[in-house]
Amino acid sequence: MLDNLTQRLAKVVKTLRGQARLTDENISDMLREVRMALLEADVALPVVKDLVARIREKAVGQEVVGSLTPGQALVGVVHDELAALMGGATASLNFATQPPAIVLMAGLQGAGKTTTVGKLAKWLKETQKKKVLTVSCDVYRPAAIEQLRTVTGQAGAEFFPSTPDQKPVDIARAAVEFAKTRYFDVLLVDTAGRLAIDQAMMDEIRALHQAINPIETLFVVDAMLGQDAVNTAKAFKDALPLTGVVLTKLDGDARGGAALSVRHVTGAPLKFAGVGEKLTGLEEFHPQRMASRILG
Ligand code: GDP
Repeated sequence: MLDNLTQRLAKVVKTLRGQARLTDENISDMLREVRMALLEADVALPVVKDLVARIREKAVGQEVVGSLTPGQALVGVVHDELAALMGGATASLNFATQPPAIVLMAGLQGAGKTTTVGKLAKWLKETQKKKVLTVSCDVYRPAAIEQLRTVTGQAGAEFFPSTPDQKPVDIARAAVEFAKTRYFDVLLVDTAGRLAIDQAMMDEIRALHQAINPIETLFVVDAMLGQDAVNTAKAFKDALPLTGVVLTKLDGDARGGAALSVRHVTGAPLKFAGVGEKLTGLEEFHPQRMASRILG
């Protein structure tokens, strides 16, 4: 996965740093390595092609060949293009709406939605000084509702109770009303995920989206999913107007090269990274830093 990518690129980078001059030949060698490393890291082929084409264009241009240290310059180009692939600048949550700012969480079961709601509640409360309400629309797993109640309590936010006999849309609407009358700044709406893409799940979350019209619709995806992350991202993107992605489990060994494709596939910026099971394990996603990490 990405460790592999890091190692391979590190090797290329090391060779290039020693080059006094860049030639068509060593640019091609380097691009071949980059291409193979990305493919082996499970990055989708169209993404790899696009990335390599952009690197080549810049590499043969003045930006690199005309530079005093072409090896370094080429590494810089790879770095910038990797960062651009993940969104370029750091993106944050959009609160530009009449409160409450409604945030809808979408993703497969086990992706880390409920944990991320807890983390976001804590982050919003502590760093953004927001008054936060959470609600669970997962009427299929009573344990999921309880889990949200627990993490919300740990985050010091407020929890809007729901029960499995209610309809998800009714729960969400009631929570929005409650949040309005009690002057909450943000309402985080947790949803049911399935183990795999499923039409009923997509219909349900689409109905939820229509009913509450969230300003943020965050797709939560497990960075360890590999190539499946791309397929999942595509399915959610086709069902919902996603405004951001949360990449979870980036603390794990396998960092999931497919994560690089998620931005490309969804067109939505990566906004947060989950880096642990605890509620403190959330970071704003920095494409530049991530690119540096990948390059090693
Ligand atoms: P949901 O079904 O999408 O709501 O997923 P959960 O929030 O229940 O998370 C599923 C599992 O992943 C739980 O065991 C979480 O503790 C774990 N988890 C969630 N986010 C992270 C993360 O960023 N890092 C790690 N290591 N584990 C996480």
